[in-house]
Amino acid sequence: MGKDTGFLEYKRKNNTDVPPAERIKNFDEFHKPLDTEKRREQASRCMNCGVPFCQSAMNLGGMVTGCPLHNLIPEWNDELYRGHDEHSFARLHKTSNFPEFTGRVCPALCEKACMCGQYGDAVTVHDNELYLVETAYEKGYIKPFIPQIRSGKTVAVVGSGPAGLAVADELNHRGHKVEVFEREDEIGGLLMYGIPNMKLDKRVIRRRRKLMEEEGVVFHTGVNVGKDKKAFDVLGSFDAVVLCCGAKKERPLAVADPAKVKGVYNAVDFLTSTTKALMDSGDTTTAALTEHGGYIDAAGKNVVIVGGGDTGNDCIGTVIRHGAKTVTALEMMPKPPVERAANNPWPEWPKVLKTDYGHEEAIHVFGSDPRVFETTVKSIETDKKGALKQIETVKVTFKDGKLVEVAGTEKKIKCDLLLIAAGFIGCEDYTADEFSLKKTQRGTVLTPEGSYHVEGTKIFSAGDMRRGQSLVVWAIAEGRACAKEVDEYLMGYTN
Ligand SMILES: Cc1cc2nc3c(=O)[nH]c(=O)nc-3n(C[C@H](O)[C@H](O)[C@H](O)COP(=O)(O)OP(=O)(O)OC[C@H]3O[C@@H](n4cnc5c(N)ncnc54)[C@H](O)[C@@H]3O)c2cc1C
Ligand code: SF4
Repeated sequence: MGKDTGFLEYKRKNNTDVPPAERIKNFDEFHKPLDTEKRREQASRCMNCGVPFCQSAMNLGGMVTGCPLHNLIPEWNDELYRGHDEHSFARLHKTSNFPEFTGRVCPALCEKACMCGQYGDAVTVHDNELYLVETAYEKGYIKPFIPQIRSGKTVAVVGSGPAGLAVADELNHRGHKVEVFEREDEIGGLLMYGIPNMKLDKRVIRRRRKLMEEEGVVFHTGVNVGKDKKAFDVLGSFDAVVLCCGAKKERPLAVADPAKVKGVYNAVDFLTSTTKALMDSGDTTTAALTEHGGYIDAAGKNVVIVGGGDTGNDCIGTVIRHGAKTVTALEMMPKPPVERAANNPWPEWPKVLKTDYGHEEAIHVFGSDPRVFETTVKSIETDKKGALKQIETVKVTFKDGKLVEVAGTEKKIKCDLLLIAAGFIGCEDYTADEFSLKKTQRGTVLTPEGSYHVEGTKIFSAGDMRRGQSLVVWAIAEGRACAKEVDEYLMGYTN
C-alpha cells in the first residue's frame, strides 16, 4: 500500500483542462498534466484494497466494470507514489501494450470499480497511467525490444487499429515475423481516423509506429486486402493471418442517405476529413485548418448530429472548432440520471449522464447543452439543388420493447449539415466475404466462444471485427488474447 492515509489526506485532482474558450481555437490535446509531486499524492490515494475490483473486468448487470487488460493498478500506483517510475511503468507495461492510447482515450472502466469511489472519489488511475507512459518515453525507459531468436514463422495482420497493433506487437516480441496490411495511408485505425486530434494527438501513433518498426514489425499502408491484394495471396504467403478490420459498417439513417443528399455525412467520414486536412496543413490551429481547406466544413452551418456516444461528442467538439452556427445532438435514449440509481450500485458501470468535452464546449459557446433526448429524425427537406435545408424531428419512446414515435411531437429545425453517428452494425462485408468467413447476427466474424480462431483455417480475428464496435482497451485486450492463441497455433505451446 502506498500511503496508509493517502486517501484521507488528499482529494482527487484530475489533470487540468484548458478552458473551452481557449481550447476551441485549435485541435490540440487540452488535458494538462499535474506536476510530479501532485501526481505522487494522487497515486498515494490508492488503498491497495484486498480485492482490487479496478483490475477485475467483471460483468455485472450486463456491463463490464474494471480494467479489461487486468492492469496491475494497485501495484503500479504504489511504485508511483514511492517515486519508482521506471519499475512502476514496467508493471504497467506487463499487461498493457499501449498505455499512451488508453491513458488518453479510455473511459477508465477501472475507476468506476475503484473502492475509493464507493463513498468518495476514485483514484485517478487513467491520469496516473498517462503520466507513467509519457515519463517512460521522456526518460528513455521505453527502448526497442528486438527478439534475440526468430521462430521462422510468418504472420500477416490485416488492419492496424489498436487490435491489429496489439497482435503485431505481441507476436513480434514472441519472435515471429509480422507484416501489417492497412488500407489507409496511416496506421492506427480509428485512433488515427476517427478519434479527433484533441483527444489523441496523431504524433503519439507515429511515435509508436517508429518503435514497432525498430523492433521489426513491417507496415504496408495503402494496401486494401480483398481489393488490392487477394485473400489467396495472403493465405499462401503467411503461416497465420489475423483479421482486425474493425466494425466500420455504419447504421444507416432511413430518411437520409449520405450518397443521395448533399449535406449528409457519416460521422467517421466527417471526422476523418478534418484529421487529414490538419495533418496535411501541419498546423493544429483552427485558422490554419480554414486556410488549408479540403475538408467537410461546418463553419456557419446549422448542424444536427444524430446519435450520442463518443462519436457524437467528437462531432460536437469538431464542428464547434470549425465555427458552426448552431449544434443540436439528437439521442433516442432517455436522459440518464445524474447520480447512480438505486438499482445500479457501485461497482457496476454507472449508467449516469456523462457531460463530455464537446458538450462542455457547446454549453460555453451556445449557452445550453446541445443534447435533445428521446428524439430522432422523421424526415428531411432539401432545396431545388438537392442540398439539405431543414429536418423534422419527432419524440420517441419504448413501448413493449419497441421504439415508437409520439404523435404530435414533430418539430422542424434548420439544418444544412447532418452527421450520422448512430453506431455501427458490424464489419464491412468485402473482407469477410473475401476470406469466406461466417458472420454472427451482429455482423461480426464468427469464432467459437472464447476463441479468436476461425475453425479449420489459419485465420484469426480480433477487436471490433469480432467483438462489435467497442473500446480501445477492449481492442488491445482482444489483440493480446488472440496473439496468444496464434502463438500456440504456430508453436504448439505458448508462454
Ligand atoms: C469517432 C469515434 C470515437 C471513438 N472514441 C473512443 C474513445 O474515446 N475511447 C475508446 O476507448 N474508444 C473509442 N472509440 C472506439 C474505438 O476507436 C474502437 O473500438 C477501436 O478503435 C477498435 O479497434 P480495432 O483495431 O478493432 O478496429 P479499428 O480501429 O476500426 O481499425 C481497423 C483497421 O482496419 C483497416 N482495414 C479494414 N479493412 C481492411 C482491409 N480489407 N485491408 C486493409 N485494412 C483494412 C481499417 O482501415 C482500420 O485502420 C471511438 C470510435 C469512433 C468511431
Ligand atoms: S486501460 Fe482503461 S480501464 Fe485499464 S487501467 Fe487504463 S484507464 Fe483504467
